[in-house]
Amino acid sequence: ERRAALAASSGPGATADGHKVPLLANVGGPADVPAALEAGAEGVGLFRTEFLFLDDSKNAPSEEKQVEAYRQVLEAFPEGRVVVRVLDAGADKPLDFLTPGDEPNPALGVRGLRTLLDHPDVLRTQLTALAKAAEGLPVYLEVMAPMVADRADAKAFADACREAGLRAKFGAMVEIPSAALRARSVLQEVEFLSLGTNDLAQYTFAADRQVGAVSRLQDPWQPALLDLVALSAEAAKAEGKSCGVCGEAASDPLLACVLTGLGVTSLSMGAASIPYVRATLAKFTMAQCERAAAAARAADSAEDARTAAQAVLSGE
Ligand code: PEP
Ligand code: MG
Repeated sequence: ERRAALAASSGPGATADGHKVPLLANVGGPADVPAALEAGAEGVGLFRTEFLFLDDSKNAPSEEKQVEAYRQVLEAFPEGRVVVRVLDAGADKPLDFLTPGDEPNPALGVRGLRTLLDHPDVLRTQLTALAKAAEGLPVYLEVMAPMVADRADAKAFADACREAGLRAKFGAMVEIPSAALRARSVLQEVEFLSLGTNDLAQYTFAADRQVGAVSRLQDPWQPALLDLVALSAEAAKAEGKSCGVCGEAASDPLLACVLTGLGVTSLSMGAASIPYVRATLAKFTMAQCERAAAAARAADSAEDARTAAQAVLSGE
């Protein structure tokens, strides 16, 4: 079955009726690039830059070291898109020299963009390094911030990008329900949205992503999560902008069809999932994806949502 999926699967992501849905890879650094290329990724939808910061517990990596690492990833996708996420420190990714050690609820504390706004020098160095890394390359660089809560956060990030002289699209991750609820307001400041469904599920259901006992609530098929995806995608469409998904949700082939039906414009996932998602998406039309999405949203549980979408797509 694996071989069949891979054989049937090459070229750009699209529905059966030719509606394009770029399939992008999540990478953690240059080491993940070969697998992304082999899977036929059309670019990178989430470059997690945390890896660069793990070697030294006291200092941020030098600008030169960052330029080198970013350039290696950018060079691998000529004419492709590369979406770089600036440092997401804190909560499940603590960094000694940046993350406050005394927070009662680190996931609700200073993490993601909040950390960077408290340490503008770290953000400035990262954005400058990205600007230098992209110089002279034909790649479509997009840079996004994790944990954007509202329009003020989006503006602070966009201002920092402009001040660093970055020639790229600036975006906001939607990982906090407030950003999904007010997506149109956030979009006044940035050019694209990317849904981080892992954290969006955590914050929507008040269910820590690291606590197995509440994993039922982390299921990305939860209809409440699908509602927030739909709100974000509709807002982006109304503003003429894009809204991708880069959380784990995008790697489930059936859910990928549902997300497409909700209006999501690109899907980013671990490279190993790309052939399966590509093959499944190619079997269904946009209208079928939309019907599956409506059926899933009409359900009252994650399990019923999955069953309902499956029934629509298998023509039952
Ligand atoms: C997410 O939260 O869905 C996401 C893509 O970011 P991370 O898993 O790195 O927090
Ligand atoms: Mg996240």
